[in-house]
Amino acid sequence: MQEIRHWLDGTAVEGTSGRQLPVWNPATGEQQAYVVAATAEETARAIASAKKAFPGWRAASLSRRAEVMFRFRELVDANRKEIASLISAEHGKTVADAAGELARGIENIEFAAGAPHLLKGGYSEQASSGVDVYSIRQPLGVVAGITPFNFPAMVPLWMLCNALVCGNTFVLKPSEKDPSVSLLLADLLRQAGLPDGAFNVVQGDREAVETLIDHPDVQALSFVGSTPVAQAVYERGTKLGKRVQALGGAKNHMVVLPDADIGSAADAAVSAGYGSAGERCMAVSVVVAVGASADPLVEAIKERVGRIAVGPATDPSAEMGPLISREHRDKVAGYLADPGTAEIVVDGRDAPVCDEPGFFLGASLVDRVPTDSPLYTDEIFGPVLAVVRVDTYEQALDLVNTNEYGNGTAIFTRDGGAARQFQYDVLCGMVGVNVPVPVPVAYYSFGGWKSSLFGDLHMYGPEGLQFYTRAKVVTSRWPDPATSEVDLGFPKVR
Ligand code: NAD
Repeated sequence: MQEIRHWLDGTAVEGTSGRQLPVWNPATGEQQAYVVAATAEETARAIASAKKAFPGWRAASLSRRAEVMFRFRELVDANRKEIASLISAEHGKTVADAAGELARGIENIEFAAGAPHLLKGGYSEQASSGVDVYSIRQPLGVVAGITPFNFPAMVPLWMLCNALVCGNTFVLKPSEKDPSVSLLLADLLRQAGLPDGAFNVVQGDREAVETLIDHPDVQALSFVGSTPVAQAVYERGTKLGKRVQALGGAKNHMVVLPDADIGSAADAAVSAGYGSAGERCMAVSVVVAVGASADPLVEAIKERVGRIAVGPATDPSAEMGPLISREHRDKVAGYLADPGTAEIVVDGRDAPVCDEPGFFLGASLVDRVPTDSPLYTDEIFGPVLAVVRVDTYEQALDLVNTNEYGNGTAIFTRDGGAARQFQYDVLCGMVGVNVPVPVPVAYYSFGGWKSSLFGDLHMYGPEGLQFYTRAKVVTSRWPDPATSEVDLGFPKVR
């Protein structure tokens, strides 16, 4: 069986711990590969490799770093099919969904290729007599990224592109559940001209993560995953004085006002609720049906849910794949076993695909979910859409605002004033107006509020560049003009 290896100093290397973690094929339920969990020593070697590469990479000009990103973008683009099928093979999502994930990841490479424009500082001439003051941004050194299973290409790209273009070197600890894409990206970075050691990958789990947090040579950590782990990583890292951004889980509410177009709202709820089998941090997991919208909306969603084609990624007609693991599938199905007073409108456990050996579960719709039910309070992270009925906009807003999470939310309405009021009032980091999955484009930044993000700076975009650099302000006086000289050469970028 294939070992998915670490990537150290520009080459793939086998693990030594002997502690194997399985990589499943979620569509067949069979193990297809394994990683050997990195020990503290192996993780320290990756950090040492990144530390050694830092001075050289930092000294590379901005043009050179941007050029590597530009070439990397071309290589990822040329390998779209291979990367998407690798994502599907280990994650289980459809190839079209994997291609969509990659396209959003590529946006981040494109943003990084243009980053020099945003790394400019400010300059104040003659702040005092003969004195100028200016600001610069410098890289931090070795930075680490720890990523979740649900976006094995996009989330690493959220981090590594900005980190590298700022002149840092990087150690990635991808999810042990779908680790292969990280190695493909590492090899493409090498081909793009990134020096060996500037990007390393350690496969593994908690042991590797804790080594990355605790190691004195790691300056900053970017984490994306579940809330309890995000909080633990944030607290452990900041206690050591490190810069940490840790993005956690979500329970995203889609509010549907009575004046909304019910067909469009139902299309959006189904797309955002069941896309990627609900395993997206921006998935809609709660539809808040306001007033008279509820009956027709539930009926329209039910009709659409019945038409979702569930199957393996190898079946081009499949719209929704399996869940990531058997344990997770069983955990998600468990929420349907005891719905309390909620009404199960469509029970995914009855889907024919559940008889397959893979980790499949059909789409479920649960109506009249009380807000103290685990169907409402928990991040289920599967194809289970809860409907909560309320009478007024104010009640809908209160639900979103008092929820533990504040990642994304959306409002569906034809009333521009109501939408604007919602955008003004709502306590979430990302808001959609008639857009169910409002993942910001790469030149804005991504992040939630409340228990969906620990830290001050959101991920990627301009805040990503801020996270991966620190500011320095220089106050300068040049009292002796005799040192100046004439140079008629054409100014060159080197
Ligand atoms: P997870 O928290 O189990 O794992 C995330 C990463 O942390 C993995 O690399 C894993 O190996 C590591 N890890 C797991 N347990 C750890 C521990 N005890 N100590 C240190 N490291 C540990 O998350 P997951 O199941 O891979 O991903 C799904 C979760 O990620 C969901 O909660 C989802 O909402 C969240 N997510 C959030 C965002 C966001 O942007 N907010 C994006 C994607 C996913």
